[in-house]
Formats: sequence, C-alpha cells, structure tokens
Amino acid sequence: MDQAQNQELQWLLLDLNSFFASCEQQERPELRGKPVAVVAMITDSTSVLAASYEAKAFGVKTGTRVTEARKMCPGIQFVKTHHRRYLDFHQRILEAVEEIIPIHSVLSVDEMACELTGSQKQLPKALDLARRLKKHVQDRVGACLTSSVGLGPNTLIAKMASDMQKPNGLVWISREEISQKLGPLSIRCIPGVGARMEAHLNRSQIFKVQDLLQLSPGQARSVWGSIVGVRTVQALQGEPYVYAHGDTKSIGHEHVLPPDLRSSAKAFEVALKLLNKATVRLRKNHFRCRRLSLSVRFVDSTRYEKEIRFSETSDTGFLMKQLRSLWKFPPRPSPLKVSVVLSGFEKEEEAHQLSFFDGEQDRREKAFQVMDRLNEKFGADTLYVANLFGMKKKATGGIAFSRVPDPEEFEE
Ligand SMILES: [Mg+2]
Repeated sequence: MDQAQNQELQWLLLDLNSFFASCEQQERPELRGKPVAVVAMITDSTSVLAASYEAKAFGVKTGTRVTEARKMCPGIQFVKTHHRRYLDFHQRILEAVEEIIPIHSVLSVDEMACELTGSQKQLPKALDLARRLKKHVQDRVGACLTSSVGLGPNTLIAKMASDMQKPNGLVWISREEISQKLGPLSIRCIPGVGARMEAHLNRSQIFKVQDLLQLSPGQARSVWGSIVGVRTVQALQGEPYVYAHGDTKSIGHEHVLPPDLRSSAKAFEVALKLLNKATVRLRKNHFRCRRLSLSVRFVDSTRYEKEIRFSETSDTGFLMKQLRSLWKFPPRPSPLKVSVVLSGFEKEEEAHQLSFFDGEQDRREKAFQVMDRLNEKFGADTLYVANLFGMKKKATGGIAFSRVPDPEEFEE
C-alpha cells in the first residue's frame, strides 16, 4: 500500500452549491446555464440573496445590490425566493443522502455531515463514497443540485475542505496533511472567523492557519480571548471537534414591558417571544435543555418565579407548552418585567444519538433547526412559529407545533 492508501478520513461534509439559485434552475429549465440572482423582492432597492455560478462569474454574490448586479452582468435574471421550494428540496436531498450513508447532523439548509465508519475511512473508499453520494443526489433530486464534498478528521476540517473547491468539488484533508493543505490559508477560511475576529487575531500576529496550528491550548485561549480558541485550534490540529459543555450554563432573555404590554396576556406573548429566541440560541449551540425557568416582576416589585424540569429537548413547541403551564399566577398588579431562562444543558450528540428519521421529537427538532438556518440566511423573522406573537391566526387550540410543521405552515 502506498502512503495515500493509508490515510484515514473520519467525516464527510456535503455542501450544496449555490443552493437557492440551483433549486430555481432545477425548477425552471429556462434558467439553466444562465446568470440568476435570487432576491427577496423584485425591486431595485434590495440585495442578492444567492447567485448562480453563471452570475458569480461576473462577480455577483450574496449581498450585491440589485442595481450593481445589473451593471456587472447585464443579462442577469432576478428570481423571487420560494422558501417552501427550498425546504422541499432540502427534504429530498436528506432522503437521497440517507440512501447512501446515515446523516449525523444537518448543519444548515444546504449542509450536512456524515460520520465514516469501518472501511469507509480509507481514502480510496471514502473518495468512492463521496463521488457516489454527489451523483446520487443529482440523480434523485435533480441535475442542477451539484455539491462540494469535504473529507477530514473532523467536521471543521471537512467543512474547510468542502469550501476549497466550488462548484462540484471533492477535497480531502487527512490529519497528516493539515499543515500542508490548510496551513497557508488565511484565518478567514476558518468557519466562525469573521472580519472582526480576523482583525483581533491579526493584532497577535496570527494571519494564517499555520500560525494557529503551533499554539498550545493556553496560548489559543489567550489570543482568542475565550475557550472557543482552544476548541478551534484543537479542531484545526485534527482533534475530534467537540462542543464544550460547561461553557454556557444557561441561555435566557428578559424584557421590561412598555405600558401597552403590561397585561397578563400581552406579557405571555412577550415571554413566548423570549423563549423562542432562547431556543434558537440553544440549538445554535447544539444543546438540549432540561430546565425552563420563568420570572415575572410586577409593578409593585413583587415577583413570581417558577421552574419546570423535563427530559432533554430543544423542541420549541414542547417548551412553549411548558411555559404555558408555568404561567399560572394569582391575580396581581400589572407585570413589569418578564424573563425566561433555559438551563440543565446536555450536548446534542451525547444526549441521544437518534438517527435522522427516528421519532417524532427528533423530526420536530430537525425541522426547527432548518427553520433557524433559513431565518439566519433570510433575516430573523422570515419563518416563525405561527402563533407566536399573537399577531397571526389567534391561538385556538393552544400552542402551535405539536408535530412536524408542513411546508405550508412556513411563510412564503
Ligand atoms: Mg452551500
């Protein structure tokens, strides 16, 4: 066996190329091979949300102003977003991937990670699997749905590998190759390192990935300014990528009520909103919680405090029901401040290793994760829990989301 054959890869990360634009091209053959920009509204005053590779060739990218994009690429076609369509493609892609290899985690609406096992870890086998997977997604879902696959010792490195060749890429980085393949890259290639963190690290003379690879955990912590640096550097060195446990002890939000919201009903709507924000953060940190605490302060400075415990969850619908059960205080003066706190965390992967289609709760949690990612891409309130702010469809049967939401329940 030559050296390449001895290399082992533990993780596969599949990232769809120009996902929203590709969905549109798949759905509308007349757009294929053409520069396309997906926008929230057909108007000159907006920016591009996603560009097809044909448009990217002209320099159009996410964030380019529509007027600018038209100048850069005169023939460009603007298409309005279809969230339900993307969700539908997302679901079909997950199903296609699962026909080849189990999905370990859905990282975003167009990214998923799979753990390689047994002989799949050997480089030639891993490459063969990756090629079959890419082709299978196209065969089953549509030829426009091309993807870039990264293979690596952990999901962080696999993700960086998938970013290195677009579109339609396949890049592997084994543990032995980290410094050779990633070392020369700018630290901006590290997921989570934005312009501000880059500037911060530059002040410590950290410019390239290789500058980080040499750091001890203590140095990593001090240049980064937090424990995140230790985890990131260890992941870059090829260690298993683990989310720290004790980092975040609780996630909570509080809100002082303006006069028009100082009724029990309005205050409860605010509490639901705070809970929703907290659960988005919970899922973003890959935690599940076992405790929900509610605190209400009234205008006479008295307080109502109560908490409830349950088995670990990150399901917004379930937590909303728990919040309602806590919201039972005897008549009091008007509420003045509401706070909602989630605690008793368990890391997602440790909590329960359910396979993707196992169980109702798991499905619901995945659905919420997808909603989080779409909201991240399109702006905070693109999709939301229907009954949330008492503005839409006044609640009749209690809280929404006691099951997997149908695509129809997402706002277009
Ligand atoms: Mg992508």
